[in-house]
Amino acid sequence: MFFNGEESRLRSLLEKLDSGVKLYREEFACLMSAEPSVLNAVASDMAGDIARRTFGRRVFLRGLIEISSFCKNDCLYCGLRASNKDAQRYRLSREEILERCEAGYELGLRTFVLQGGEDLALTDEWVADVVREIKKRFAGVAVTLSLGERDKVSYRRFKDAGADRYLLRHETYNAEHYARLHPQTMSRDARVACLHTLKRLGFQTGAGMMIGSPGQTPATLADDLMFLQELRPEMVGIGPFIPAHGTPFEHEPKGSVERTLSLISVVRIMFPRANIPATTALATLDAKGREKGIMAGANVLMPNISPKEQRAKYSIYDNKANTGLESIEGLEELKERLAAIDYTVDWGRGDCLDPR
Ligand code: SAH
Repeated sequence: MFFNGEESRLRSLLEKLDSGVKLYREEFACLMSAEPSVLNAVASDMAGDIARRTFGRRVFLRGLIEISSFCKNDCLYCGLRASNKDAQRYRLSREEILERCEAGYELGLRTFVLQGGEDLALTDEWVADVVREIKKRFAGVAVTLSLGERDKVSYRRFKDAGADRYLLRHETYNAEHYARLHPQTMSRDARVACLHTLKRLGFQTGAGMMIGSPGQTPATLADDLMFLQELRPEMVGIGPFIPAHGTPFEHEPKGSVERTLSLISVVRIMFPRANIPATTALATLDAKGREKGIMAGANVLMPNISPKEQRAKYSIYDNKANTGLESIEGLEELKERLAAIDYTVDWGRGDCLDPR
């Protein structure tokens, strides 16, 4: 095959990554400076092959339960930010959460993800109790928490209660870029410290970033990849930025699907065994976003199993998909769509013990 200069340079960088060699920042910057379509032409098949070698033509399902839309933080991109007076707030009760887990368990789900804003009413004791109860009632399930930044003592309580995994996207590793996306009360260093704590405590730890957030550049993406390379997260969440009403970024342009796919592929090549979802945000921007994500190297889908009445209120960005294929009611159609690309659901817990 013939490749032009740029393609062969990109290919040789990706092959280095594939063979387990770490890249320098300048090399990641070179990958990130390429047009996403050019990078994808090389990276997507490589990443898809790697995912199929690890997981077969299978995707893991996680039941996502959005437990609270209250948040004390004021992240500039997020529709749930404290100062968004238009945001609708709700909080699920312990019984509502357990009821959703039961429904999900009967359908075959073996991972439940409890996600929420940084809600002060969700005390450590309360969260730990819910986790313990889920682990007690539903044999063999994994519990993932995604409740933002907490101190080490809180994270340890969650771990002791039986939580297996924790998702906390770093959002951007570049400190100036981080400061542009977050209020002054938050910092890149605090976020990174949380991720290291989670790792040390033995959580399967998820980092990740939005693609196309205001101020993101090839250089900040190179910083993200350098950080991921050092952290070695077991999970990486990568989705496009989508503007949310009532936030300072409501009129900013949305992130690119192509670029999101290129990041999924590069991260897959870096971490052949990591759990990487085709995110709801990707599916929100592109009707074929899930399939494209899977073909680009993703291996996880996270259907929403929150109570239907509350779903629209967890509005982190506008027009967030929460029905049909993004929800558990769409499970049959989801299976058909996977079958159409010759994939099936893997009903296992889908742990990752080492991403590479
Ligand atoms: N409070 C939790 C959960 C946040 S919601 C936490 O801090 O981890 C989960 C993810 O949604 C965030 O990490 C962020 O990357 C993403 N998100 C928030 N607002 C978004 C937006 N406007 N567009 C795309 N993704 C967004």
